[in-house]
Amino acid sequence: MSAPAKRRRGGGEPVSYRIVPVDPHAHLFEVTLTIARPDPEGQRLALPAWIPGSYMIREFARHVVSIAARSGRRTVRLRKLDKHGWQASRCDGPLEIRYTVYAWDLSVRAAHLDATHGFFNGTSVFLRVIGQEDSPCEVLIEPPAGDAYADWRVATTLPEAGARRHGFGRYRAADYDELVDHPVEMGRFTLASFDVGGARHEVAITGRHDADTARLCRDLARVCAEQVRLFEPRTRRAPVGRYLFQVMAVGDGYGGLEHRSSTALICSRNDLPWRGQRELPEGYRGFLGLASHEYFHTWNVKRIKPAAFARYDLQHENYTRLLWIFEGFTSYYDDLMLVRSGVICRDAYLGLLAKAISGVMRGPGRRLQSVAESSFDAWIKYYRQDENSPNAIASYYAKGSLVALALDLTIRSRSDGRRSLDDAMRLMWRRYGRDFFERREGLGEDEFPRLLEEATGLRLDAQIRSWAYGTAELPLARLLQPVGVQLALGRGDQGPASLGAKLAMRDGQLAIATAYAGQAAQRAGLSAGDTLVAVDGLRVVDERALKALLARRKPGDRLKVHAFRRDELLECELELDAPPATEATLKFAPRPGARAARLLARWLGPGRGKPAA
Ligand SMILES: [Zn+2]
Repeated sequence: MSAPAKRRRGGGEPVSYRIVPVDPHAHLFEVTLTIARPDPEGQRLALPAWIPGSYMIREFARHVVSIAARSGRRTVRLRKLDKHGWQASRCDGPLEIRYTVYAWDLSVRAAHLDATHGFFNGTSVFLRVIGQEDSPCEVLIEPPAGDAYADWRVATTLPEAGARRHGFGRYRAADYDELVDHPVEMGRFTLASFDVGGARHEVAITGRHDADTARLCRDLARVCAEQVRLFEPRTRRAPVGRYLFQVMAVGDGYGGLEHRSSTALICSRNDLPWRGQRELPEGYRGFLGLASHEYFHTWNVKRIKPAAFARYDLQHENYTRLLWIFEGFTSYYDDLMLVRSGVICRDAYLGLLAKAISGVMRGPGRRLQSVAESSFDAWIKYYRQDENSPNAIASYYAKGSLVALALDLTIRSRSDGRRSLDDAMRLMWRRYGRDFFERREGLGEDEFPRLLEEATGLRLDAQIRSWAYGTAELPLARLLQPVGVQLALGRGDQGPASLGAKLAMRDGQLAIATAYAGQAAQRAGLSAGDTLVAVDGLRVVDERALKALLARRKPGDRLKVHAFRRDELLECELELDAPPATEATLKFAPRPGARAARLLARWLGPGRGKPAA
């Protein structure tokens, strides 16, 4: 990593941006940046290489389609320095940079603009003025020109500086870090709100939908209140003065990105509850889990941070071995908050947990990569998965959530229910989170074991070493016993014999998506991308046909397989495996003792709530 440029600290004249959706049909935002006191040696400018929360180099500058600079009436030359940045030639007066950004990425990570709405993250559109990152920023947000856009509004948590709430106009940010941490939605969204922890929470839904916003707000309010109670049991104060759920409803989509007082979510419109609907379908449950996940980040990663994120280097990868705490623990608490708040019932929660356990158990890569290593290599592995990823990597999300579960259950059992992982979250919140923006200190890379001991009185160094920094299997069945939950691993509905491959339809043909390491398909010489033609001389058109065929076989049986690799026909003999015992079922012990019942109630709450439909 290169040395960061020296920053001109404290106040000074604000860096000023004006952003206009100048051509919605061409998906172009126009940005005008005015720097009152540019670097006399030649001002440098750059767009971030990545957006915090999504650990992959994305090189947002590739969407800058035109750029020019001037000072007064004089044109100033801009020299491209590297793929992210420019340098203006020397000038004494104020420097104005005008540029257009192509915005046609319908995700929560970048920017999107058409005649129905506009959305942007600051990392996609606001050039960083090198050396003036700590200066205050002003942003003038303007609507597209024309009567067709007269009813557009703005949804953002950027503080207003003249703009009316939900209006176009002037906004501000204390520094560049804040400027790029409040994404902006504009258009004709549906707006609903609720109050929790002394803060107004808004939900802005963009896209065609028929959501029951009253129910949505009721359910979200319970989940948010539960999280506020976890971190601030005494004051019950939300960590922010206001919060915004920016929801983009589409036909098919799923994703979320956390920000300091908002989250951008993308979901299927069918996952939102509709009026008259009473049950809790899987899709809506999933949406609430996603919203819960991103809201939990308001504490865990937006304020409690790994030290490596205390000041982001937006031009390079920021390495930490701790994403299993910041993403894994958040993934543990997202569904846990649904059951504790009574939005889902205990059985539904066990179902979700079983799914998470099965997902982790299916990946042989968990034996090769620890969640600490997975965190460190997120940039090149978790975020850039390929056909071999299940064999090679562990997910710091999914397995990280099970490490959290294992630690939580250990603490609960050893302290007889007096302590839990919640205590560690609260200690991290008090020590780093509450006043993060004043002190900018984060959790050191090796600090967690001591912190956990301080919060709970228990030394769990050996467990952390083996579960998070090693690849030992988590002893979940044993750890779940004290709370009266029985875990069994079986073959689920995998049938009596297995090919040892994940299959998918590709161009209308049954293909191997992943050949699991050491298992039948790989031993027989089959690879990801091969399309299956026939098994024992019979055509296999889809997974159902194959399953029917395998249902008549047993482990050890040999099959003759014909497959295409590219355009070449392969013939091989495959010896069937016994399906691995990866599929988890969880159930409550029929007659738990009083201690188990007490531990369970402390862990999952009183256990009201809807069964999942
Ligand atoms: Zn997350």
